[in-house]
Amino acid sequence: MPPPVFRFAPSPNGFLHLGHAYSALLNFESAREGGGRFLLRIEDIDATRCRPEFEAAIDQDLGWLGITWETPVRRQSDHFADYRAALDRLAAMGLLYPSFESRAGIAGLVKAREADGVWPRDPDGAPLYPGAAKSLSATERERRLRSGAAYALRLDMDAACRLAGDLAWTERGSGPDGETGDIVALPKAWGDVVLARKDTPTSYHLSVVIDDALQGVTDVVRGQDLFWSTAVHRLLQKILDLPQPVYRHHGLIRDGAGAKLSKASAATGLRELRARGMTAGEVRNLIGLP
Ligand code: GLU
Repeated sequence: MPPPVFRFAPSPNGFLHLGHAYSALLNFESAREGGGRFLLRIEDIDATRCRPEFEAAIDQDLGWLGITWETPVRRQSDHFADYRAALDRLAAMGLLYPSFESRAGIAGLVKAREADGVWPRDPDGAPLYPGAAKSLSATERERRLRSGAAYALRLDMDAACRLAGDLAWTERGSGPDGETGDIVALPKAWGDVVLARKDTPTSYHLSVVIDDALQGVTDVVRGQDLFWSTAVHRLLQKILDLPQPVYRHHGLIRDGAGAKLSKASAATGLRELRARGMTAGEVRNLIGLP
């Protein structure tokens, strides 16, 4: 049996906090205990929010916690060609379409739908895509593309689900309501998700799936906030014929008031805690690790 492969995949759009420490340590220690490999992946597709100083701070903070990782580190912004290749495959299967609306345009459409009744929301609480881009005529689509209008590429969810058939994943941790074991994946709950954004030629869902496959990741250990996203990941893996990792979603570290931690909060930031003289051992205590 090849060794298991774990990864910690932060976005360098802020400083790491206690929740990241928990996730990184769980991955690192699971790899060590299982004789496996541990990778760090920098998820920096969003050029407007990611900054080199945040990436440097990730290295420092993880090093302080006693975590080591293999090099070279995969930085997503170096690999847009890999995501492009996946988009080309999905396009050739007829599963993508361009949508031209602005954010404000979409918000307006949602408002109009909501005036007629309840409009469905995805598991994160965002309204499903209400646009009509899928039903534009081929001529109209061509006209807009030729005019140079900016567009996102969306997955035709119904067509993708028809192609994929039944989907499930193996959960060794748990979902927000204790879901564990064989989980039925219901990607339709997300609607026609964006796979390439207007401002960046990929998306979180696409790049995470491609990278996990290219890096041979066998075990995805991450926060419960991503539990329901796994349905979209499973769908893309199936359609693109990629291997299926096992998942272990863990509970989120919360602040004293029970709220999710934010990258902007100094109270739980690793570099602030370090500056205040806290040791890595004390951080472990704080997040309930032995
Ligand atoms: N980059 C994602 C984040 O920082 C994590 C992705 C994942 O673990 O699948 O939330």
